[in-house]
Amino acid sequence: MLRASTTFHPLSTHAKSQGLWYPDGNIVIKVDNTYYKLLASRLALYCGYFEKVLQNGAEDAAGASRSGETVDGCPVVNVTDITASEFETFASYLEKPLDHPVANAKMKTILVILRVSDVLSCPSLHDLAKARLRSLWWSSPIPRRKDNIDILLRMSDQHTLDAAMAIFLARRYKIDHVLKRAFYDILCKVSDWDNAESRTRLRLPLSDADIIILFQARSALLRRWRELLMTPPNGNEPEPACIACATVREYGEAERPWRREVADKFGPREPNDFFWEIENVVLPWIEQLRTEGRWCHSCLDDRQHAWEDVRELWWQQLDELFETGESA
Ligand SMILES: [Zn+2]
Repeated sequence: MLRASTTFHPLSTHAKSQGLWYPDGNIVIKVDNTYYKLLASRLALYCGYFEKVLQNGAEDAAGASRSGETVDGCPVVNVTDITASEFETFASYLEKPLDHPVANAKMKTILVILRVSDVLSCPSLHDLAKARLRSLWWSSPIPRRKDNIDILLRMSDQHTLDAAMAIFLARRYKIDHVLKRAFYDILCKVSDWDNAESRTRLRLPLSDADIIILFQARSALLRRWRELLMTPPNGNEPEPACIACATVREYGEAERPWRREVADKFGPREPNDFFWEIENVVLPWIEQLRTEGRWCHSCLDDRQHAWEDVRELWWQQLDELFETGESA
């Protein structure tokens, strides 16, 4: 005997999901105006949400409930807090993990999985999506760009948008070891933002406070960068520590010839990616100076070690500059 509220109704073809309609399904999930016929035991196993609804028939915060409606002989559960497209993405990753491994998911998908798995209480997919986000923005090692394609990719507008999204997700879902790398990748672009237009064009989902943090961190790094670049071999001591090189030749003033050396090489150049620049411009330049004979090896060793050591230090300090609340 059917309850009064129960209705059968034949679905029009477009209301049935194409991919998520199992002939042996025993529950129908309705999101927006689309119906998905799935396996109740599987949904209940992975999603606390469905477990609760199937056990109690209770309605709760996200609006999932047994509707009293029946389709194809299966009870219908309404889910109202997410869109059909979001549910489809989520369910594809849950139902067909071999075709849709979270480990390959792009940022847009990670966003959807984190959001839906939060609404439907699905810790398995939530954890996988968190791990995927961490792997994309892993903040422990100093970032190293693989090749020119990698550099172009990381300087693209899409990458900047993805980084801003990573910042949002890391905060929203408390995912550690993401913020620093995501902030840093945006920082590499900040030098392009002299005009407000490019920032507006990107419509970055960042607060004004975040933008200020980015600019301040960039100028702090730039200050450290210039100071280190201008520091002559063997420091600023008045007495030349070296009798073998230009330090002595120019009246014992190391600073002037070194500054000229720096100006010749760098001019007004400002790095986009400080760590890339150290690795690919500064250290090779010091190697080049060794062949030119104006500075002795001991002096240049001194500069080389200073630059090598500062990488780890600067990367650690970025946690504070970006206010991540973490330490390396
Ligand atoms: Zn020397």
